[in-house]
Amino acid sequence: MVNTTIKTTKSQEIFAAAQNLMPGGVSSPVRAFKSVGGQPIVFDRVKGAYIWDVDSNQYIDYVGTWGPAICGHAHPEVISALHEALEKGTSFGAPSVLENVLAEMVIDAVPSIEMVRFVNSGTEACMAVLRLMRAFTNREKIIKFEGCYHGHADMFLVKAGSGVATLGLPDSPGVPKSATSSTLTAPFNDLEAVKALFEENRDQIAGVILEPVVGNAGFIPPDAGFLEGLRELTHEHGALLVFDEVMTGFRIAYGGAQEKFGITPDLTTLGKVIGGGLPVGAYGGRREIMSMIAPAGPVYQAGTLSGNPLAMTAGIKTLELLQKPGTYEYLDRITQKLSDGLLRIAQETGHAACGGQISAMFGLFFTSGPVHNYEDAKKSDTAKFGRFHRGMLERGVYLAPSQFEAGFTSLAHTEEDIEQTLAVAREVMSSL
Ligand SMILES: *Cc1c(COP(=O)(O)O)cnc(C)c1O
Repeated sequence: MVNTTIKTTKSQEIFAAAQNLMPGGVSSPVRAFKSVGGQPIVFDRVKGAYIWDVDSNQYIDYVGTWGPAICGHAHPEVISALHEALEKGTSFGAPSVLENVLAEMVIDAVPSIEMVRFVNSGTEACMAVLRLMRAFTNREKIIKFEGCYHGHADMFLVKAGSGVATLGLPDSPGVPKSATSSTLTAPFNDLEAVKALFEENRDQIAGVILEPVVGNAGFIPPDAGFLEGLRELTHEHGALLVFDEVMTGFRIAYGGAQEKFGITPDLTTLGKVIGGGLPVGAYGGRREIMSMIAPAGPVYQAGTLSGNPLAMTAGIKTLELLQKPGTYEYLDRITQKLSDGLLRIAQETGHAACGGQISAMFGLFFTSGPVHNYEDAKKSDTAKFGRFHRGMLERGVYLAPSQFEAGFTSLAHTEEDIEQTLAVAREVMSSL
């Protein structure tokens, strides 16, 4: 491992103390840097494309609090809207017009969504959507894909990517077999495998859920025809198609992957960007299906803080900022510059690598590839990624601390930030 070249005394002190207070010293596993080695840095503040740690080191950030910070951290307009909202109170637990505003924005933006329910996290959205899939079809089985993450609910903790992949936990202890016995899995981009599952489980499959562009096994785009094929297969078998757009929603296009690829699912889950940095999730879809949710219908789902005024305000302001002309062209341009640059540098410095980007989402695997699914992704040299990650960190670039996470850019990242990142990457890759 590269010697520590930055001062991290305070980070080390705080993280050491945290180990006694919270499992692994963190509130969510990947933050602990287990898969890249070395100490995590402890944040003090974030602004625009940058973060500062408690030892006052500055970094260019490509995690963006795992996706929400698409306008840049602590955008002045979001912060000022929040200040105003704060004065009126932090939670109502009752209807507010802010929910209507954000709901309308989501319905206008996302092709599949005619009605929406707000929750507090992507996990919650996915749990609820699963119940709804089963209730609507009166079937129990679902198909998910290896390496796709749909939050930490029991039913989805099968080959679940992200932190689960990072830590190499096959299935989490504490998840009863009964909870996952109706969860069928297939390799991503493998239509034949999905077809076979439908054949073997005739009239039993409620639906198929997927990340239309995978971000939780590293960045893996869908092959041409894959999403279309799933749309056809689900139609043919009377099953629902669900896009988990918690990561891709408002990120790879304003209307998400469904807009980008022109495939409309029956139901969609959202999170991350729509909360603008506050805890929000949402699920929505065809009116006929969403009308089954309580109190309009019999499918129960509720939440004390759901639709709270602060989260709605941050979401509304964030989507407003994204609506400005040129947003996605800009995001695509800088991210492509970053992704192309990283691949070129890897090649020039003699490292097998592959990767790509769509709009403000990118990935780089240390394997010659191509990567079509999680099995392919696992061929990456994760030890090398760990050294790369540490080298970048010590030179002021903060990447997601796992080979199996996508990277994110934001409207606050400038051409100069990208150029600086590439210069640092050249230095690090030359020394790997
Ligand atoms: C992050 C994520 C989730 C879980 O969302 P949380 O807000 O962390 O619970 C679900 N699905 C996908 C695709 C995600 O990226």
